[in-house]
Amino acid sequence: MEIKVFSLFPEMFTGPLGSSLLGKAREKGILSVEVINFRDYSTNKHKAVDDYPFGGGAGMVLQPEPIVSALRDKLDLNDAEQEIILLSPQGKVFDQEAARQLSQKKKLAFVCGHYEGFDERIRSFVTQEYSIGDYVLTGGELPAMVMIDSICRLVPGVIKEQESYEEDSFYQGLLEYPHYTRPQNFEGMEVPEILLSGHHENIRRWRRKESLRRTLLRRPDLLQKYEHDKESLKMLAEIEAELAETE
Ligand code: SAM
Repeated sequence: MEIKVFSLFPEMFTGPLGSSLLGKAREKGILSVEVINFRDYSTNKHKAVDDYPFGGGAGMVLQPEPIVSALRDKLDLNDAEQEIILLSPQGKVFDQEAARQLSQKKKLAFVCGHYEGFDERIRSFVTQEYSIGDYVLTGGELPAMVMIDSICRLVPGVIKEQESYEEDSFYQGLLEYPHYTRPQNFEGMEVPEILLSGHHENIRRWRRKESLRRTLLRRPDLLQKYEHDKESLKMLAEIEAELAETE
């Protein structure tokens, strides 16, 4: 996958995109990442990229020319395979399904806003607009990194065992079940017996039920969209009966 990021603060990407899984995926050639400073495309003698808003008001607005010149120089804007994502609190809220869809693309570009925002006409040059949640950050750099991280771990070859992300929270529409590792007893807290039994089917069932229980207790909204089968409906009925008993 080829990733290009357009930002005024390229240095912010060095650590997160150079370490851990993403760093390794870049070394292996599964991912290429280029961060472009669109200030380099400013024709202003002071290299300014922002100006006062027409109509007045607080804050500075990113001008269209430097961003659009950088996009034209670094991307083929007529390439149907090229996704250009604008980071904005006004975009669609990014979620695991969006990460899954974007992980199937070959070429992604991210445009990071700053200051009060960007000139509205920049929207004509992007293919999608995403927000990472209903809060406002200083710039689009952290949202771009969040999106790149969650998209790239789904690209084949980035994580060794496909299973390790297919079981993750949200991938199948539920929160993940609880995990335990050594020691078996930590300060009086024991690992559930069933996980020590070696009985694969019982462990699978326990994990699925705990995943449903956790989702019911923490994110009941997810259960409404979840594609239930007979087993999940039966497990949910059991969980609800168990919860009613403890009330
Ligand atoms: N005035 C803008 C508004 O109300 O929509 C917010 C501007 S914000 C201070 C500066 C930049 O940070 C935005 O242009 C965007 O690129 C980025 N940003 C801030 N919050 C974001 C979020 N929740 N998701 C994605 N990008 C965000």
